[in-house]
Amino acid sequence: MAHWRTDPEAVAQAVALGDRSAIAQAITAIESSNPRHRPLARRLLQELPTPETMTVRVGISGVPGVGKSTFIESFGRMLTGMGHRVGVLAVDPSSVRTHGSVLGDKTRMPELSVNPDAFVRPSPSSGTLGGVAKSTSQAMRILEAAGYDVILVETVGVGQSETTVATMVDTFLFLGLARTGDQLQGIKKGVLEIADIVAINKADGEHEKAARAAARELQAALRMVYTGHAGWVPPVLTCSGLTGLRIDDVWQTIGKHRDYLGEAGLLAKRREQEWELTWKLVRAELEDRLARDGGVRAIRDDLRRQVFGGDLAAAQAADEILRVFDAQPHGPSA
Ligand code: GDP
Repeated sequence: MAHWRTDPEAVAQAVALGDRSAIAQAITAIESSNPRHRPLARRLLQELPTPETMTVRVGISGVPGVGKSTFIESFGRMLTGMGHRVGVLAVDPSSVRTHGSVLGDKTRMPELSVNPDAFVRPSPSSGTLGGVAKSTSQAMRILEAAGYDVILVETVGVGQSETTVATMVDTFLFLGLARTGDQLQGIKKGVLEIADIVAINKADGEHEKAARAAARELQAALRMVYTGHAGWVPPVLTCSGLTGLRIDDVWQTIGKHRDYLGEAGLLAKRREQEWELTWKLVRAELEDRLARDGGVRAIRDDLRRQVFGGDLAAAQAADEILRVFDAQPHGPSA
């Protein structure tokens, strides 16, 4: 078996044939933070074929405990049963900050992890959110080139990770919960603005009634928000990842969203996302360089003291940081 460090083109060809160890290698290559590996990763990516038919990219988000991994496990099983090949990727903001992880553990989806028609890849374990976003969008390319036609990108509902994932997928699915006394849990306003579909999960057993009531309530609220809007109003569904109840409804609704966008609309959306991601990546790289810059690090503590002491205004401190930063050579550093 070829190795990406010696023959990235051969690895790309093996990826195109669906070779699992080549896929794993290719993703390792693009996740590498070593700048010397970048040209190799680029060569590998260039060699990948573009899928002939449009793939389905779905983002799945929700607070920890909402049932994401359980849902993806049964959703993935249903899809592979329908003849799809399913890739699962994760964007885990906690791994960015602490190198620990809320998502990403393969054992969270034991069945899908060993399913020959699925490929589960945990979130890159370190890096900035921009770096993780870059790896994830490239990993998506790799899986699509390998013949995976449905890509599920999972993220925890924290901070910027949701909006980042939203710029990588066709349809953004938000999983919520209903509980008595606290009708809707973990549904933040910002999230509803990017959700294409909302599903109140764990709608089974004693929770089913509350879930349905919460879904109706949220649907009514959303209709109000979207009044006068000609476009897509996010449908609010109920489902149970645990029992599989109505997860087929979620899949059908994803199909409806795609029909609504149409092939040209989907393509336009992806191009726009690509451009948005371009700038996100540039900003992330610049922020990284700023954080690593030796000159900036050298003056940071001193400036902080001055700002805290009231001796220096923010604008002056910022000017000083930028002056020091501009004075350094800035290649992609190690
Ligand atoms: P995640 O943190 O969002 O990935 O959530 P998990 O999938 O790990 O689920 C958290 C807990 O909720 C686990 O104990 C699951 O067994 C339970 N759970 C997940 N989905 C369902 C569901 O559809 N119904 C019920 N009743 N419990 C669920």
